[in-house]
Amino acid sequence: MSKKNCTFAPQKFHHSSIIMTAQEALKTYFGYDDFRPLQAEIVESVLQGRDTLALLPTGGGKSVCFQVPTMVMGGLCLVISPLIALMKDQVQNLRNRNIQAAAIYTGMTYEQQKTALDNCMWGPYHFLYVSPERLESEEFRERLARLPISLIAVDEAHCISQWGYDFRPSYLRIAEVRKVAYPRPLPKGKGAATPNAAHTFEEDYGEDNKSFPLGEDLGEAQIPILALTATATPEVVDDIQERLAFREKNVMRKSFARANISYIVRETNKKADEIVHILSKVAGSAIVYVRNRQRTQELASYLNEKGISADYYHAGLSAKERSQKQEAWKIGEKAKEHPMTRASSGTPLRREGESQRTRVIVATNAFGMGIDKPDVRVVIHHDLPDTIEAYFQEAGRAGRDEQKAFAVLLYDPSDKSKAHKRIGDNYPDPDTLQNVYHKVCNYLGVGADSGLGACFFVDMFDLCKKMHLPVLTTYSSLHLLSQMGYFSFDEEQEIHPRVRLRVSRRDLEEYRLSEAENSLLEHLMREYTGIFTELQYVHKLDDKHQELVSLAQKRIIDYVPRTKANVLRLSVNRQTVIRIPAEWYQQRKNHYANKLEAMVEYAENKHYCRSQLLLGYFGENDAPTCGTCDICRTNNKH
Ligand code: ADP
Ligand code: MG
Repeated sequence: MSKKNCTFAPQKFHHSSIIMTAQEALKTYFGYDDFRPLQAEIVESVLQGRDTLALLPTGGGKSVCFQVPTMVMGGLCLVISPLIALMKDQVQNLRNRNIQAAAIYTGMTYEQQKTALDNCMWGPYHFLYVSPERLESEEFRERLARLPISLIAVDEAHCISQWGYDFRPSYLRIAEVRKVAYPRPLPKGKGAATPNAAHTFEEDYGEDNKSFPLGEDLGEAQIPILALTATATPEVVDDIQERLAFREKNVMRKSFARANISYIVRETNKKADEIVHILSKVAGSAIVYVRNRQRTQELASYLNEKGISADYYHAGLSAKERSQKQEAWKIGEKAKEHPMTRASSGTPLRREGESQRTRVIVATNAFGMGIDKPDVRVVIHHDLPDTIEAYFQEAGRAGRDEQKAFAVLLYDPSDKSKAHKRIGDNYPDPDTLQNVYHKVCNYLGVGADSGLGACFFVDMFDLCKKMHLPVLTTYSSLHLLSQMGYFSFDEEQEIHPRVRLRVSRRDLEEYRLSEAENSLLEHLMREYTGIFTELQYVHKLDDKHQELVSLAQKRIIDYVPRTKANVLRLSVNRQTVIRIPAEWYQQRKNHYANKLEAMVEYAENKHYCRSQLLLGYFGENDAPTCGTCDICRTNNKH
């Protein structure tokens, strides 16, 4: 058996005595012949049991870096991933490849979470995706620690750093999982991947985990961590390794250079027209990023007026709307011209159930994460992003097929002062924070010294109106308070429908119910044990909406349909005074201001190659000039 590209000891693989190398696992499970640049090195590092930080550009194939070693080693890979949609996507992808995977995130019922955990404990599961918020619960962390975890993969690892551009406090809990969890030796004679394992955890590991020395210092035996990100400045690179408690520093980095992208800044005060102009010059799919939700809609209809097929997208839309818009854009406009899709009359044929096709998506920054569309020809920014990191990520969605593409930033000199105003908006002064904290607690009816763990759906409009609070400041305050550990605050979470039964099983007989209603009620009573006492989240009942409404009208159930809400949870009891660490606050504010300033400098730069500027920001100081950005092109002309 070939052991080429494989310096690590091959591990036992399931189906008795087959030995499988990483290269073979790549082929067998994922159908790829070769590793992409740096993937093999990262996989090897992981298989050697080393903590690893992998920096690969978006689309570089980070998932393979933890999926392949897990399949080689056996056992369970715990994946921390910040976006539920991405998580579900990956789980589905794995399942399509016949690899068992589960996900746990906020909004799942206790029963569902338990099932997922049980499956990971006893079933031949290889991947457990967990949203970072779940790690806030100590009980949950302990339950995780009992699983046979062989690798912890931290996706979007920059979220762990306060110096990154997308800090998530819950990421800081990851090291704790690692501390309480122990690497499990595979049970004798049973690869963790044994199909249809009929054995229980207790059989394999001894009753109650006794064979594991809890609390003992296992030193080197700690579960290895693989952290992955597409964007990190040198200070964030250090921070990630420190906060994940790397045993030794180990960074693997592929250059972030994107040779096929031309970076361009256009100074204009007629941005909408400039966008039309650009889109008439550059054919193919495009993304236009805009900061304001309402403006996405206005701009999209302006483009349509000008004969450019466009749609809008932001986080305020329902999941269904978003996925429809996204799909229409993913198919793209081009396919319309394909002869096979045309009727003889020459009008495009629309296949059954097929809706719109969109060339341009006008979106807020909620759009793009996890979207794998290779042929985006241009990404236009209508407004200045907050950070170079965000800009580079978003611009980088152009040209993933390695074909020529453009990243254009529109800049109006008045953007500079607008940007500076964001600093104050994002960092309300300490008195304001104090004020917002108490008003929010009052509004939610949380009394002094109470409220720990209480969870609320917050209608921001109502809150701000009743408590006389300015909307923007309130949002930023809630985010800051959540970073300071008082709340956890998540905007516009998708909330599953909820149902409670108002009548007892016996009294149900007195109602005249249809067959469909009866079987629905049977299903509810069977699946959700607590449904007589409390509202229960129900799943996979979207097609039963009508029946549920009708049962609610008959006052048999309480029904709260699927919705979106801002979810606020108190992480500590209500305090009399909140302590705002002055240094911490000032540091963060300065940091935000500095990042913004770097973005302004990029926009106003008239001398340096844009690609060099961007790469230099991420610590790559030896990048060559690109020759294709607006600066290089002007320089070459002279
Ligand atoms: P990232 O997380 O780095 O943005 P993904 O892991 O989502 O990237 O991978 C991007 C795409 O590349 C996916 O469609 C994946 O299937 C594909 N891919 C990854 N590795 C390989 C490989 N070695 N050969 C071919 N395709 C690959
Ligand atoms: Mg990824």
